[in-house]
Amino acid sequence: MPPLWWRGKPAVTSSILSVRNPRSGKDGFMASMSRRNLLASLLILPAAWCGADDGASLFDGRSLDGWKAGEHHRSFRVEGGKIVASGPAAHLFYTGRVGTGTFKNFDLKAEVLARPGACSGIHFHTQFQSHGPLETGFKVQINNAYAGEGDDRDCRKTGSLYGIRNIYKALVKDDEWFNLRVQVRGKQVQVWLNEVQIVDYIEPDQPTDSTTPTIGRGALALECCGGSPPVYFRNLVANPLPDDLQTPSEQLPPVDDVYRQLLQMNQQGYPVVDYHVHLKGGLTLEQALASSRRLGIMYGIAVNGGLKFPITTDAGVENFLASMKGQPCFVGLQGEGREWVTLFSRDTIAKFDYIFTDCMTFSDDHGKRMRLWIPEEVGEIPDPEQFMELLVSRIVGILNHEPIDIHANPTFLPDAIAGDYDRLWTPERMQRVIEAAKANDVAIEINNRYRIPSAAFIQRAKNAGVKFSFGTNNGDPDLGRIEYALAMIKQCGLTWQDIFIPKPDGQKAAQRRSAG
Ligand SMILES: [Zn+2]
Repeated sequence: MPPLWWRGKPAVTSSILSVRNPRSGKDGFMASMSRRNLLASLLILPAAWCGADDGASLFDGRSLDGWKAGEHHRSFRVEGGKIVASGPAAHLFYTGRVGTGTFKNFDLKAEVLARPGACSGIHFHTQFQSHGPLETGFKVQINNAYAGEGDDRDCRKTGSLYGIRNIYKALVKDDEWFNLRVQVRGKQVQVWLNEVQIVDYIEPDQPTDSTTPTIGRGALALECCGGSPPVYFRNLVANPLPDDLQTPSEQLPPVDDVYRQLLQMNQQGYPVVDYHVHLKGGLTLEQALASSRRLGIMYGIAVNGGLKFPITTDAGVENFLASMKGQPCFVGLQGEGREWVTLFSRDTIAKFDYIFTDCMTFSDDHGKRMRLWIPEEVGEIPDPEQFMELLVSRIVGILNHEPIDIHANPTFLPDAIAGDYDRLWTPERMQRVIEAAKANDVAIEINNRYRIPSAAFIQRAKNAGVKFSFGTNNGDPDLGRIEYALAMIKQCGLTWQDIFIPKPDGQKAAQRRSAG
């Protein structure tokens, strides 16, 4: 069988579209046949012979000829046509004929399989080292197994351009072969996982700091993480591209404080995810994903479920989830009204990566239902103190009884009293909400749209050990860059350990919390 990725077109950037195109299978098959013949002939012809769109094999399937380990050479061996990385920490450098062993612009493809819990990586633009972690170049991460809290590095999943454009969701499984493709063209680094583009990093004109590697030229290397279960590589193929490829200057990102802080957070292993993105106001999934890849903010795409909302039944949930299958983003449910808990089965909503709700819709003690963002429904608030008591008791009720992972739009107040936010959110009221969030392991959203909750609330919640998520809650295609959350991270000293990451299967709120 030819490697799976040959079935796609080699230089297509909109790979999601080409995978969906039912004709691409047929066209791809023809292409794969001719390329397979070409690959066979490359085994006996010099690498320089190959055409512009084709690559040359870096691995003969039988030996490590053309490869050199920096140390612990037994950490790499050949087994059944595969390179196996297993043993003490080490790197295996490509020193063969293709690209004379150093690469500037290139297109690299590999098939990879990781055993459960394994980690590895493919380094590029690096240099031979006889020992220690590599000091130069970039790494594309291989790590599918959930680790959650603890070692921050474990949050960076397969396909991450390590520390620069992290992927926080495992998009492929252990014990299954997947295709990894890395391309450098000028100032642009792109990564595809099973033909889906997940990274699109463009280096700015000026270096942003001293720790970020710069795109240049150098060696390729495979990594063996010490103590990790084995990782297998096969069909390693590289196509050196011309040195003079340029990235148009208008594509280079402007570097401002927000850019620097986002990069820093990626370096430090913060889960940089906006979990409150809606496909609203004409925003398409393709646009959202393109923005995510460029900015270095992963998205959680959330659908609204509740009476008179887009999704009202289990069947609606299943349809939505099917439409998002395989997409490089988290997928969430926003429960609406208070009725949402009665509409879906737990098993069905547990298929979302996470669930959130806000307390912007509730009924008072006389049964009057209000949506807090609609002044006509809220009406007069003659006694703000009494209103706050009602609001806080409703929030606590939601945190105690609804199966949510995140409390969104927290501390939102209707327009009529929003001007008194700091006075009305007394320490005692904040504390009641924070304690309920902590007791139920619910994260608090730092909301970019309303710029809530206040720094005072966030500081208290942090001290209580509550986790935070970032959420834009967009009503139109403008997603911003989670600016309010970034400001709060600085002001309140939030560390990567303070930030929410979706729970693994079995521990989600919908699974661990009983109904009602
Ligand atoms: Zn929303």
